[in-house]
Amino acid sequence: MHKLVAILMLGLGLGACAGPAVEQRDGYSVDHRHSATSHSSRVRSLVIHYTDADEADSLRTLTGPRVSSHYLIPPPRNGKPPPVYQLVDETRRAWHAGASSWAGRENLNDTSVGIEVVNTGPDHRFVDIEAGLKASWAPFPDAQITALIALAQDIIARHGIETTAVVSHAEIAPTRKIDPGPAFPWQRLHAAGIGPWPDPARVACYRRRFEKAPLPLGSLQRALAEWGFAVTPSGVLDNTTRGALRAFQMRYRPTDYRGLADTESMAILWALLAEYRPETLSVRPATAPPCRWPAANLTTSRHVPDRITDFGPANASGLARHESGLARHELL
Ligand SMILES: [Zn+2]
Repeated sequence: MHKLVAILMLGLGLGACAGPAVEQRDGYSVDHRHSATSHSSRVRSLVIHYTDADEADSLRTLTGPRVSSHYLIPPPRNGKPPPVYQLVDETRRAWHAGASSWAGRENLNDTSVGIEVVNTGPDHRFVDIEAGLKASWAPFPDAQITALIALAQDIIARHGIETTAVVSHAEIAPTRKIDPGPAFPWQRLHAAGIGPWPDPARVACYRRRFEKAPLPLGSLQRALAEWGFAVTPSGVLDNTTRGALRAFQMRYRPTDYRGLADTESMAILWALLAEYRPETLSVRPATAPPCRWPAANLTTSRHVPDRITDFGPANASGLARHESGLARHELL
């Protein structure tokens, strides 16, 4: 910690200027008279979580020694949006993502802001849900989501976060995480300008195409990788591919999140790629059915396809257990 010893103003006639021109610190002085114009935010993505715990436990865990997040949103108070806890400054690295990857970036703690939403998740263990047990998922109250939307809009605007870089924890760590789960209202967030959503007409078109001419699994895996998942096109429905499909379905088709490579999931994925990453379809005409829209209707976001195609095997640690709780987030 620096001890501010003295602040010296230089009488150089520079006119109205915020702050001291030269600042004296312990053992050195800092000259503020020149500032660069070529710089940007280090924050590239926004990661949404649920805590899998109540407010008191969530606060205790997220202010403890192992994990943290920039923000925590508790349940509403008397039906009104709750106050938002800020636990870590956005300029600091919070420990919320763990081993993670999205669109060619890894270790998203380095480049993201994390928001934890207090929510208790499913009423059964996820391993039992995957085995076929019917589960009930805790809802996200309207007033809680209202607060989240205002916070997310502010973060996205200040850091210039791309639409496709608003992600769930499950999407960036699909073999380990399921949060914020299938009850999270992603479509409502999209309506508020947060995150992508597929156009229903596009989905219907691609679905018809794929029903007539099914795609091989390798094409689906390449499309998942182009969308952002750390999936390797192996042609085999491996653990990573199933996890990616499960995370994708929880977000965009939450009625069935078994992680199967079904036609509707493919249609949703292609509709998203067509709208947000059209360049990825144009380079692979053999697997891009002719569901075309006028270019003027497209909203695109920047994409770095060479980093996607260079992906190696994902999640080398081979973690197979799906974790949803704060207590099982890893220390990083
Ligand atoms: Zn999480």
